[in-house]
Amino acid sequence: MVRVFTLASGKGGTGKTTVTINLGTSLAQFGKKTCIMDADIGMANLGLSLGLENVPVTLHEVLSGTASIKDAIYEGPGGVQVIPCGISLQGFQQSDPELLKEVLKELTDSLDYLLIDAPAGISRDGVVPLAVADEVILVVNPELSAIVDAMKTKILAEVVGGQVRGAIINRATPESIATVTQKMEKVLGTRVIGIIPEDQNIRKAASAKVPIVLKYPASDSSVAIKKLAAGLAGLTYEQKEMDSKDSFVDRFTKVIFRGRK
Ligand code: ADP
Ligand code: MG
Repeated sequence: MVRVFTLASGKGGTGKTTVTINLGTSLAQFGKKTCIMDADIGMANLGLSLGLENVPVTLHEVLSGTASIKDAIYEGPGGVQVIPCGISLQGFQQSDPELLKEVLKELTDSLDYLLIDAPAGISRDGVVPLAVADEVILVVNPELSAIVDAMKTKILAEVVGGQVRGAIINRATPESIATVTQKMEKVLGTRVIGIIPEDQNIRKAASAKVPIVLKYPASDSSVAIKKLAAGLAGLTYEQKEMDSKDSFVDRFTKVIFRGRK
């Protein structure tokens, strides 16, 4: 049975797409059947970030009723499945966001996790992803405008029956971490479930079109994201490392050394 998380923010540019891609890749690396979906149907860029910009079927075709959702699923990095969205204005105009609820039913049995990258703002195409989620995760930057917009998104999510899991503070700096977490919890009225630092490697990984958790797995932001993913999946970070394909060499080495003792 799939668990659906929608990553939303209110304000644009807080890191929803980056977090969706990397949380999804981490969950897939933990052996969870995971799909990430770009529901930013007006300003899609998740596919673009992964080199999937020229695929024949996207969420646009699905939401215009001309394709099945299963035909819009592509193999992404690290075993994550990806449902990209098209970038044409016509595709946007022909999409009916309300169809999302129906089409998601087709994914119920084939996945453990579906992460939905929501659009910024509170328009109709932004509301549906909040309504279809089992839990909404707010992606917030440590600045007042982002917090205020996240608060509106939280209220909206609750109005449409969504449950807010908590907030991720993205692009945190050492100065902001100390002061912002408490303030954030107080103002937003929700738990901070993860803090991802400002990290230049995120931009480098983005230009290489590779998730940072794969390109720079030991960087601070990768570790923060993997811990967060482990928390969502009910694993501890160490446990998950044992499961990851990346750590196969490590595990192999450990076994060899244990054998020699
Ligand atoms: P959104 O989807 O919310 O619009 P993006 O994920 O596209 O936001 O991120 C916006 C920009 O911020 C991108 O250029 C991305 O590389 C950058 N970014 C996101 N998170 C971080 C971070 N923790 N450190 C540095 N840059 C980041
Ligand atoms: Mg985005």
